[in-house]
Amino acid sequence: MRCAARTLKRIYSSHNLAAVHHARNRLETGGIRAVVKNEFLSSAMGDLPPAECQAEVWVLSEKDFQAAETILQNAFSLKSGEPWKCHSCGETCEGQFTQCWRCGAYRAG
Ligand SMILES: [Zn+2]
Repeated sequence: MRCAARTLKRIYSSHNLAAVHHARNRLETGGIRAVVKNEFLSSAMGDLPPAECQAEVWVLSEKDFQAAETILQNAFSLKSGEPWKCHSCGETCEGQFTQCWRCGAYRAG
């Protein structure tokens, strides 16, 4: 029996929709087909959604999973070191953060 869902693998999940779409875009840029699930479930205003309502990124082909992991590790790599300046609000952020603690903007590059 064929079941298409079996070849799907979840590669990433987050309450942060921007991060989820960022992840998917990175995968697509790397030539990996990926889809976002649950994005509308996690958009409740004000409250944090329950864990099962996190938005998720799934890769469509299991053979791409390792490459996808590598891409995401690079995309979200926690580089400790130099503080960086937010391109959006100008705040200085610690090197280990990939997102501005003040306005939520992503570190450029
Ligand atoms: Zn900022």
